[in-house]
Amino acid sequence: MKPEMIGMSRVLVVGGGAAGMFAAVTAARNGQEVFLFEKNEKLGKKLFITGKGRCNITNACDMETLFSSVIRNSRFLYSSFYGYTNQDVIDFFEKLGVKTKTERGGRVFPESDHSSDVIRALEQELKRLGVRVFLNTRVEKIITQNGMFSEAEIVNERAGGKKRVKGDACVIATGGLSYPSTGSTGDGYRFAGECGHSIVPCAPSLVPMEVKEPWAGSLMGLSLRNVKASVFQGKKCLFQDFGEMLFTHYGVSGPLIISASSYLGEKLEKQELKLEVDLKPALDEKQLDQRVLRDFEENHNRQFKNALGKLFPSKLIPVMVELSGIDPEKKIHGISRDERQRFVYLIKRLTMTVTGLRDYNEAIITRGGVKTKEVDPGTMESKLVKGLYFAGEVLDLDALTGGFNLQIAWSTAYAAGNNAAKE
Ligand SMILES: Cc1cc2nc3c(=O)[nH]c(=O)nc-3n(C[C@H](O)[C@H](O)[C@H](O)COP(=O)(O)OP(=O)(O)OC[C@H]3O[C@@H](n4cnc5c(N)ncnc54)[C@H](O)[C@@H]3O)c2cc1C
Repeated sequence: MKPEMIGMSRVLVVGGGAAGMFAAVTAARNGQEVFLFEKNEKLGKKLFITGKGRCNITNACDMETLFSSVIRNSRFLYSSFYGYTNQDVIDFFEKLGVKTKTERGGRVFPESDHSSDVIRALEQELKRLGVRVFLNTRVEKIITQNGMFSEAEIVNERAGGKKRVKGDACVIATGGLSYPSTGSTGDGYRFAGECGHSIVPCAPSLVPMEVKEPWAGSLMGLSLRNVKASVFQGKKCLFQDFGEMLFTHYGVSGPLIISASSYLGEKLEKQELKLEVDLKPALDEKQLDQRVLRDFEENHNRQFKNALGKLFPSKLIPVMVELSGIDPEKKIHGISRDERQRFVYLIKRLTMTVTGLRDYNEAIITRGGVKTKEVDPGTMESKLVKGLYFAGEVLDLDALTGGFNLQIAWSTAYAAGNNAAKE
């Protein structure tokens, strides 16, 4: 069908996720006419599932921590983070009636624990400001003229048919590739590429890991708290932290592992890595040896396999027995000092071979995206196409869990929305 021209618009926003809604609110608060296009039947599908449905909107940390929690291109965020801080995010939602609370690690949530309250507040603000929201509307193409944004070609997902919409500026806020069922299917990378932008290769990040050892699968469902995980590339330690991990049918997951994944992506493409889990990080090897010795003395006449109940959860015992190489039926009093010390070594270094990361269906964010060098960090405007802006996960930015990725979305969207409105 021949594209048909419809009315004039000022700021077009592509994508009704966190960044798109916020860019639209910001541009509209500047008095502009704003059109927001979302291909789903509703806004904020991904936002709805964030923080396990509770939406960890930001982190109440100091600015230094905010920057250090960004894994890639944190310097690019200097102006936008200072231009719209974590406190600004909290104030914004509080003013719209969403009371917030701060939990462990500075994680900020709506007091109600409902992400739907965050989405509703944004929707009501969009409505109040007169933003025209087009649902079921996919942007198909970004059209430029003489190095300037000119119009967007849109398709109604239900009725079909293409239309063109003119705009003075356009904010691309289409997200990344993770959880594609929420609508993030990477369209923005194509738009950016067609406009001449470089795309830093994308990969799943903040994602569980696959491991080679079959015993890991046998521990499926087992969660370990207060352990230390270290990931090594040869002798080089790539990541080390304390926390909680979980065994799954394919390998390992849980907050500690998800965080570790952010540091491994590129390395794993080239080689396998070693994951070492210290099951008793509060004790050094000597202290642990004494602790094991005490347990052994209490279970003097028991078989090895029946003497470990105080050391590990029951599901883990058969695996530890097997990996120790000690005969499970051997009486404790028959275990040599050398065998015991090797066992202690194993408890401090339960080692797995990481073969890969899980895919986008399980990844909290996408690593890679629109190259930040080609975007003005103060305004989020493309350095290649005037009037074209980027916000949120479509950019080559990613951070740890804890509300930092949404902070990236809010801050970049604020910069984009504010500056797009000046076109
Ligand atoms: C399970 C899960 C939990 C998470 N929890 C948290 C958390 O608690 N705290 C936190 O900080 N971060 C969290 N994140 C990360 C966070 O959700 C993202 O970083 C954030 O949503 C990115 O916002 P965005 O607006 O850039 O992209 P998205 O939220 O992905 O929004 C992009 C929107 O654009 C639309 N779109 C795409 N292409 C087109 C097109 N061609 N035309 C029209 N519309 C289009 C999509 O349908 C989508 O609605 C979580 C992520 C996941 C997957």
